[in-house]
Amino acid sequence: MTDALFRNFIDGRFDEPSATFDSIDPSTGAPWARMPAASEADVDRAVEAAHRALRSGPWTAMTATARGKLLVKLGDLVAANARRLAELETRDTGKIIRETRAQIAYVGDYYRYYGGLADKHEGAHVPIDKADLDVTIRREPIGVVAAVVPWNSQLFLSAVKLGPALAAGCTVVLKASEDGPAPLLAFAELVQQAGFPEGTVNILTGFGQDCGRRLTSHPLVSRVAFTGGPSTARAIVRNTAENLAYTTLELGGKSPVVVFADADLDSAANAVVAGIFAATGQSCVAGSRLLVEGSVKDEFLARLKRKAEAIRIGDPQDPATEMGPLATQRQRDWIEKIVVESLAKGGTLITGGTRPGGPGFYYAPTIIVAGDSNLACVREELFGPVLSVLAFDTEAQALALANDTPFGLASGVFTSNLGKAHRMARDIHAGVVWVNTYRAVSPLVPFGGYGHSGLGREGGLDAIRDYTRSKSVWIKT
Ligand code: NAD
Repeated sequence: MTDALFRNFIDGRFDEPSATFDSIDPSTGAPWARMPAASEADVDRAVEAAHRALRSGPWTAMTATARGKLLVKLGDLVAANARRLAELETRDTGKIIRETRAQIAYVGDYYRYYGGLADKHEGAHVPIDKADLDVTIRREPIGVVAAVVPWNSQLFLSAVKLGPALAAGCTVVLKASEDGPAPLLAFAELVQQAGFPEGTVNILTGFGQDCGRRLTSHPLVSRVAFTGGPSTARAIVRNTAENLAYTTLELGGKSPVVVFADADLDSAANAVVAGIFAATGQSCVAGSRLLVEGSVKDEFLARLKRKAEAIRIGDPQDPATEMGPLATQRQRDWIEKIVVESLAKGGTLITGGTRPGGPGFYYAPTIIVAGDSNLACVREELFGPVLSVLAFDTEAQALALANDTPFGLASGVFTSNLGKAHRMARDIHAGVVWVNTYRAVSPLVPFGGYGHSGLGREGGLDAIRDYTRSKSVWIKT
């Protein structure tokens, strides 16, 4: 048992939880705080509060400009509290403090961006071919939004949902992941401080099977925004068969990074290492498949090995640490199993494949030359610090390997040849292509996947539209 207790935020108040579970510090493997386990009844209260706030009360009466100002204020509060939020996220998920600080620095920007857009998304007037009829198209909030996020980057992944949803005038019930919910439950205090009317934003945590299932199938929910794994996405789509909610899915990836021989190899090596080992590989856009041109393969692998072995692994709260533990023991065990299996089936280990000693869920940065593109380390999203390498000889082979996956979230291309860069960017099946860079993000730019990586886009102007529905108003003049 631990002393720290977090609470769910429902209808403008922090609840005394009726049930709790321990949250584990991944750097020690020991419990450090108790989290509320929201029941189905808690979910019902939260959804009903969001529905009331949407139907009557101050939120509906507020102008879009006033709603936007609240969002901007929330963004400012996130920035002012960045230090505490970053420390909590690091404590609860093991993500290193350098990364949580850097990410939270732009979470505030997402709220400010959507706050600025709240009064700028407009309806339309349609010039139909009838002199006695006038048609306008109103854009109205779609309704109560159920937002469900995974454990990695919870503050960021909820900002890309809450920002456009609230800017559109919706109300939200946000379910934090049961793994590492502390930063979002603390963020709820900022929602309260910003002055959002009761019931507009509700934040709770609990388990997928009861709390998540009830939330995404609730009859009063009209819109589900989900980020997580593909198998959970299928369960969510089945849940939404009940309420027929419009659903967007941001899922996993097995993102290819293609390095041509004509690239700036040093800068490509830095990007490949950061692309896979940042966040200990627990990132949906992790560049987990390296496709390297055969003529520079050995030289490039030697650079990668040196850089991977120089990564400082340690206490995630120490600003000097460059890689922390995995978030859960379950995650570390799964990665280890796939690495062992892939090596047994012919993969060649370049570095890693071991657990550094001591407590916590650590796993060394690992590079495997796969040879065979059917190995599990090439096909499965591992969500860990494992880079699988395949070689190619021609541009056509590089493209075929890049697209040889059911996923299609992100990709990288490293080349000094402009034509090659354009052709690859055009032909890769993925929602994001980074050329001679990796992992850049901005609130102004849409993000989302092809194929098994998801449905719908987050970020950018269009995201607000996705939280509205149109109403065509015909008036006889
Ligand atoms: P997960 O799918 O196990 O869980 C995600 C959320 O879904 C959690 O809050 C969980 O409680 C909830 N959930 C589980 N079962 C449910 C059910 N039956 N009904 C409703 N909700 C349910 O994912 P995870 O392991 O926490 O996160 C890792 C996955 O998330 C990876 O696949 C990763 O690629 C993906 N991800 C995608 C993006 C993106 O933007 N595309 C970003 C980050 C992570």
